[in-house]
Amino acid sequence: MLYFSFLSKHLYPLYESFRGRKTHLYYREYLANQHKTPDEIAAIQLQKLKALLHHCQLHVPYYQKSWRELGFDPASVQSVADLNQLPLLTKSLVRQHYDELIASNFRGKNITKTTGGSTGEPFRFEHDRENYDRRQGVAWRGYGWAGYELGDKSLYYWGGAIGRVAKKAALKDKLYNMMLGRNVLNVFYMDKDNIHRFVDEIFSFKPHGIVGYTSPLFEVAQYILEKNIKVPSLGWIISAAEPLYESQREIIEQAFATKVFNTYGCREFTLIGAECSHQQGLHLNTDHLVVEVTDDFGQGTQGIGNMTITDLHNYGMPLIRFVNGDLGKLKQTSCSCDLPFPLLESVEGRKLDKIVTREGKIIPGEFFPRLFREMREVERYQVVQEHLDRIEINIVALPGLDSAAMEHSIQSAVKAVVGQELSVFFHYVDAIALTASGKNRVTISKLDVAS
Ligand SMILES: [Zn+2]
Repeated sequence: MLYFSFLSKHLYPLYESFRGRKTHLYYREYLANQHKTPDEIAAIQLQKLKALLHHCQLHVPYYQKSWRELGFDPASVQSVADLNQLPLLTKSLVRQHYDELIASNFRGKNITKTTGGSTGEPFRFEHDRENYDRRQGVAWRGYGWAGYELGDKSLYYWGGAIGRVAKKAALKDKLYNMMLGRNVLNVFYMDKDNIHRFVDEIFSFKPHGIVGYTSPLFEVAQYILEKNIKVPSLGWIISAAEPLYESQREIIEQAFATKVFNTYGCREFTLIGAECSHQQGLHLNTDHLVVEVTDDFGQGTQGIGNMTITDLHNYGMPLIRFVNGDLGKLKQTSCSCDLPFPLLESVEGRKLDKIVTREGKIIPGEFFPRLFREMREVERYQVVQEHLDRIEINIVALPGLDSAAMEHSIQSAVKAVVGQELSVFFHYVDAIALTASGKNRVTISKLDVAS
């Protein structure tokens, strides 16, 4: 009885969502698009953009008001470039106008998501349910360019649940992953004593490929080379969530004796771009998103600029020209492959140094964005390590922050991962200095350790 109720309540809906006709329908739609011409894709993108803008004019109070003031008429849009008449949408604008950005006909029906922010600003947003299915479809297609096929046994080096609080979520994730053929190893618990398990699992699970955060992939690759291990052959490796430097790519490819494919995404939009086998840049999902690179005034630039993204299928809380905090550069030439999607030449996403302890435990940089996701009253944060036994966390607080509760929850999450080896100190500051390129670095290690 208990089993049955568990099955119907948790397992079956997950099964449904996996087999859900819409995800597969959208997946097939996106797969079909990759055989179209660049002009056909541009036409699809424009038609989707016009439909979205029309929806915003009818149902989204924020755009109704600001477009009226601007004198912008969505019906006049002739090309995607006409978007430059509209201002950029920053995280702070979304925070200030949160309710007005939700479409009136989707109020209360959306999925709410939180992010630790690629630039150290915790952030909350919503998207509609169909949007979720579409995101999956686009992501599966992008991974497919690396050789992934739906249902392939995939080993994940990924950030999992942290501490006791997340046990329920962990079980849900486990079932979902199981149904997708995924085996997820939690990199937040990787250290020098258990790193061999990340290799052992390749022998026992026999995956088709590995998807991982870049830095744990790199750690494992170094370990494999150091121990001279010959790992079973893999079809592909996909690196995600962190930038992939060429020096890291070489080491990972050497250790696993297979190609590594770079991807770029963020929580607000899931997969934005991915490499094909020609690896001349990241193909952008322009039949699903508008991806612009802009200066601070919202004008398109051919140089390095703000990643500025419009999700053509988030009708629940449309984010038009959303600036996610990353810097990127579009490629002016097209790929030598047959895909109709343009290329992103480079992206400077989150720069996350790892945090280490005297005993050799490692906290990947991704740990902190994950932890800060739920801290809505934190405007910005930065983790700095100058000594092996302590870290300093700088916090720019918003009104209403319960600092004692926040400190307690962070202390216990860090303790769950590295025990008593690391003391955490909090500093409440008015501002956090940005890097020369205008980004906030989420974690900074000033220790002289090889990355
Ligand atoms: Zn290509």
